[in-house]
Amino acid sequence: MKILKRLLKIVSALIGVLVLTGIITLWLDSLGTRYLRINKNDLTSLNSYIITNVNIVPMNQDTVLVDKMVHIKEGVIEKIADSIEVDGIEIIDAKNKYLTPGLIDMHVHVWDRYELGLYLSNGVTAVRNLWGIPMHLRIKEDVIEDKIFSPMFFTTGPKLTGREFIGDDNLNLAYPSEAKEKVISYKDRGYDLIKTYYGLDKEIFDAVIKQAKISDMDIVAHPSQKVPFSYHLNPQIKSIEHAEEIVQQALQYDLDSTKLKPIIESISQSKHTNYCPTITGFNNIYQMMIDDSILSSASINYMNPLIKKVDSENQFERWSNAKQNDRSEVSRIKNQHDFHIMIVQKLHAAGVNIICGTDAGIGITLPGFSIHQEMAFYEEAGFSNYEVLKTATVNASRTHSIMNQLGTIQEGKIANLLLVDENPLFELSSLENPSYVFVKGRKLDRETLDSYNEKAKNRKNLIASALRYLEYLIIE
Ligand SMILES: [Zn+2]
Repeated sequence: MKILKRLLKIVSALIGVLVLTGIITLWLDSLGTRYLRINKNDLTSLNSYIITNVNIVPMNQDTVLVDKMVHIKEGVIEKIADSIEVDGIEIIDAKNKYLTPGLIDMHVHVWDRYELGLYLSNGVTAVRNLWGIPMHLRIKEDVIEDKIFSPMFFTTGPKLTGREFIGDDNLNLAYPSEAKEKVISYKDRGYDLIKTYYGLDKEIFDAVIKQAKISDMDIVAHPSQKVPFSYHLNPQIKSIEHAEEIVQQALQYDLDSTKLKPIIESISQSKHTNYCPTITGFNNIYQMMIDDSILSSASINYMNPLIKKVDSENQFERWSNAKQNDRSEVSRIKNQHDFHIMIVQKLHAAGVNIICGTDAGIGITLPGFSIHQEMAFYEEAGFSNYEVLKTATVNASRTHSIMNQLGTIQEGKIANLLLVDENPLFELSSLENPSYVFVKGRKLDRETLDSYNEKAKNRKNLIASALRYLEYLIIE
């Protein structure tokens, strides 16, 4: 008995030490992103300005409002006019530069707060995070309470799948009653949206949809192979993810444009369905296949260290092995990518609302930077610059009612804005380096934005990231 007691003591002491070490690790890690904190006593917390001499690209119509003034009052666009006078307010002379709405990336995976700085430096002032775990609720709370500089943060709950185990990153639902419970609890905990995933069977999917409707939560669907593709056109599902799922599920890998036609038609007839193609995420498979040294390129230093270890390296190995076994795999992937571009073109021509999403944060798809790549793919698919910019602004904000205050420059909208040198309706690349990014009316200059990039490089916090993931596995 004595030995058993002693053993118990040792075990509980060990657990205590482990928990304490975990807490200290997470605390030390949080110090590493202190630079994003908004200091309420300093100039960075100002959110009222007048911007003068500015050309506005409002994005509610295809036009430029020349030489205007904009009054931002406590983070909201109060007034747009030829001339505005307000006493005691800071004036920013825009020197005839262009003001556009901040960009919205509708498909990201955030693992760490430093990534929030990367989004901002690339002009992304709102993100939709599609693989929610408890850490995202804390980010969301800090954003709402104006504690940190961050894109506005919308997140789904954990990815919901069916009985079949397809990895511990998904929440397996065994019964319709469990589906109902989870949707209710995600709403309670503060998740904004429901994410359904691969492998969700009809009985449980029906239960998720039913409760999501009652709980007033929009669903974002990574198509499930257990139901027909058309099942995802349900009104509660506001967006369908990934162009490749049309190929891989609806077309069973058959790159046949005749078979594609009725699928495009059905999506276009479903007026509530928005499509988020994530061309960049898939294209990066091709990039891995044609560049053997891609993992040592400088840009990979922006990826989260845990993701680099468990995802980027595994993906690279998988695809380079596939290439070694069969050289034709490279052209197969390239052909599929080209087919995705055509899918986007056809969806767009059929009037489907395309929303810009990258799948940043997994594989080798970079947070922030990749939105410009994604937009370039839409340009390649034949969109005008105005139409491209719509996908990352007004189209995105129309997708969910919780995002309606974003996406255009109009009185009453949230002041998420970019000030850029050239008119993006002529030159999209001008969006890559905004001189100022306003997020909820707070101004970040280029120097600050560049410092966010610098600080995000070569993060070493693999253990902290793993602990946050462990927290999810415990709480779900
Ligand atoms: Zn994703």
